[in-house]
Amino acid sequence: MSTYDPQDSTVAIHGGRSLDCHASSILFPLYQTSTFVHDAVGVDKGFSYSRVSNPTVDALEKVIGTLEGTPPAVCFRTGMAAITTLLLSVLKSGDHAVLSDVVYGGTMRLFREVLDDLGITASFVDTSDATNVEAAITPATRILFIETPGNPTLKLTDIEAVARIAKRHSILLAVDNTFLTPILQKPLELGADISVLSTTKYIDGHNATVGGSIATHDDKLLERIRLVRKTIGTTQAPFEAWLTLQGIKTLPARLRLHCEGAAVIARWLENHPDVERVYYPGLDSFPQKALAEKQQRAPGGIIAFELKAGVETAVRALNSVKLCSRAESLGGLETLITHPPSTTHADLDPKLRRGLGISDGLIRLSVGLEAPEDIIADLEQAFAAAASSNASEEVTHEIR
Ligand SMILES: *Cc1c(COP(=O)(O)O)cnc(C)c1O
Repeated sequence: MSTYDPQDSTVAIHGGRSLDCHASSILFPLYQTSTFVHDAVGVDKGFSYSRVSNPTVDALEKVIGTLEGTPPAVCFRTGMAAITTLLLSVLKSGDHAVLSDVVYGGTMRLFREVLDDLGITASFVDTSDATNVEAAITPATRILFIETPGNPTLKLTDIEAVARIAKRHSILLAVDNTFLTPILQKPLELGADISVLSTTKYIDGHNATVGGSIATHDDKLLERIRLVRKTIGTTQAPFEAWLTLQGIKTLPARLRLHCEGAAVIARWLENHPDVERVYYPGLDSFPQKALAEKQQRAPGGIIAFELKAGVETAVRALNSVKLCSRAESLGGLETLITHPPSTTHADLDPKLRRGLGISDGLIRLSVGLEAPEDIIADLEQAFAAAASSNASEEVTHEIR
């Protein structure tokens, strides 16, 4: 496994920075404004209206682009706004896309509920086997959209292998890199054309904002994405960009701690008698550990696991945590615990869900920056409470 690049921290702290011309404040200013005054007709300082561009959003785009190794990224109001804008920029009626079967639920819903009605179709396949990708490509396929690690079982897709297929067919490859960020995985260096992030997660890292970004080396594609963004109005807001600019400065430092904590907790879970199975790319038991070592710089901060006792006990354990928070999302300072079958993946047909390896008792942990031993103590007391409570007690979460 290649390791962390210490210079990422320097870039994260200084990459978006230029001293403001009025007061030399060390933090880049928040330009909380809708419009900009023109010096004369047709003469401006490069900004006219914040749906098109804004200096604070530009600063965030500069730092994300530097971390991605590309020209400035394009930032959006949410991760889904980024994904929607990308797909509307490259797909038209009659076109087809191939996606990972474990892609983010919102991305799946975008195709099923919105793009399908516009005549844009998609195939969702197990991209962990690249031959499935090749087999799903049709003459109408314009983009491959993969997510690795996939949610919630952290199933990996070999980015280089899929990139070779994309090149051979002259199709774009986009990677949703939200779980690792360019600090821990560089999809563009591995041959992808487009890197997509929900900045809501690790990039902001403080659960303070929602946002998204797209980075690519393709200048024409960037221009097209900016045109569609300003047209449909999915641009990031200045205040969210400013908060995200503060969060991203500690991204490399935070990720090291997230990974360190997750490794300790994953090992503890694997040795716990109540635990049936742990999914974490840093464990020797992880079936794709070699691929993780090839394309990731570290295993990441997300763990999934199953308790031996099954779904009722899993739900009781979730209801018994005190330090961990029962909440969707991931990548923040607070450890979040979720039950994907009843939350993020509740919309999926139960058979399909189980086919994806998401058992009814699966629990996902986004490891925060608390002391790992405190998280372990919380899980230990929650497992004990779940095991000892009356087995006939009603389960409040309905598993659909
Ligand atoms: C959260 C998430 C998204 C969507 O981002 P929002 O900011 O919530 O719109 C997309 N992809 C992945 C992998 C995510 O975790």
